[in-house]
Amino acid sequence: MNQEAIRKKLDRKAKRVNACWIWTGYRNDEGYGEMRMNKKRYKLHRLSYELFNGAIPEKALVCHSCDNPSCIEPTHLFLGNDKINSDDKIKKGRFRNGPIKKRLTIDEVCAIRKDYSQGIESQVKLASKYQVHKRHIRRIINNYCWKDNEASRDIPTGG
Ligand SMILES: [Zn+2]
Repeated sequence: MNQEAIRKKLDRKAKRVNACWIWTGYRNDEGYGEMRMNKKRYKLHRLSYELFNGAIPEKALVCHSCDNPSCIEPTHLFLGNDKINSDDKIKKGRFRNGPIKKRLTIDEVCAIRKDYSQGIESQVKLASKYQVHKRHIRRIINNYCWKDNEASRDIPTGG
């Protein structure tokens, strides 16, 4: 698809909402607009950046000053790297308590202990399976923060 065709597609599929230019077509789980071209998937905000602002250096990320992943307004897009992007998200409070925040139930705690004691899963795998910090898995396994008689209470995770 050439630039002219991409431009037309953006005109047709993106809507002005306040200062943002919002992609109304397909969005992925993270909210980024995506489309398929030549059997490849492209993120719309990156296409828009390249089209209006210029080439994206290798490994650079295209970040949003408006914090709206589906926005493709070129003046809201800036280049960053992984670190800048996550700093930016932390500053904006999106990841205030880290990306993962979840409470485990007693059943999950029991399952974690069982899987670990039977050697089914490693601590790292359990952490990603239950989306909690590895340290928390270790505490659960060591009975540090969950006594068996605290059956009905949720335990806070993280930290
Ligand atoms: Zn925007």
